[in-house]
Amino acid sequence: MPELPEVETLCRQLHARVAGEKILATVVYDDKLAGLGSVRDCMIKAVRRSGKTIALMLNDGRSITIHLRMTGRLLWQQDRKREAHTRWRMTLADGNVDLVDPRRFATVKVETTGQEKDFKDLMTGFNEKTFLEKQSARKVSVKILLMDPKAIAGIGNIYACEILHRAGISPFRQAATLGEREWRTVFRQARCILKKGIEKRGTSISDWRDLYGCQGENQNELKAYRQEGKTCCVCGGVIARVKQGGRSTFYCPQCQK
Ligand SMILES: [Zn+2]
Repeated sequence: MPELPEVETLCRQLHARVAGEKILATVVYDDKLAGLGSVRDCMIKAVRRSGKTIALMLNDGRSITIHLRMTGRLLWQQDRKREAHTRWRMTLADGNVDLVDPRRFATVKVETTGQEKDFKDLMTGFNEKTFLEKQSARKVSVKILLMDPKAIAGIGNIYACEILHRAGISPFRQAATLGEREWRTVFRQARCILKKGIEKRGTSISDWRDLYGCQGENQNELKAYRQEGKTCCVCGGVIARVKQGGRSTFYCPQCQK
């Protein structure tokens, strides 16, 4: 499932490719996406990300918002051929942006509201004070809280494991037991991890590919996720894999406290 760095990678590639371009046509191949308003002849002004939502801002004030969910991906197609599971296509003068999505959970909407700043997004104006007041005392583990989109946008299992490893905090700690200083460390390390993930164009462990079908390189940077049995780069301990909330958690029992 794409997380913040993967979606940001797509947004940057899309912006470079489609900003200033006119939409010549769109085609829906999946009934689940039927009923989109017409965007023909609209010009794309910019591509922005909010959490895991991609927004193509149009010159008439509307925006096309895309959420990739589980298996969705966007693919630049220069010729007329279509990948299997293509559900939606947007045609520009020199090529197409296709939504390819085997499990069909991804959504595309045409919306009239402008995109608001997301205070849950660590990379764009995250409100630490509000988080500390409203979220930090919740009765859940710190890892589950990091992955809750109502608390923080865009973090899934891979980056949650990496952030907590780097912050030296056990994923099993109750959120309420972390002091403000520890939370500030989590936020700081989270930004480092996410920034690195963006620089490396995302983590291609299962099916993540960028706009041009290329793998990211962040899988080579992982220090905890899927590193079970390997030596911890911080303390020399051994990375463990444990089930938590139905998902695998990867962490170092020796240095994550
Ligand atoms: Zn360690």
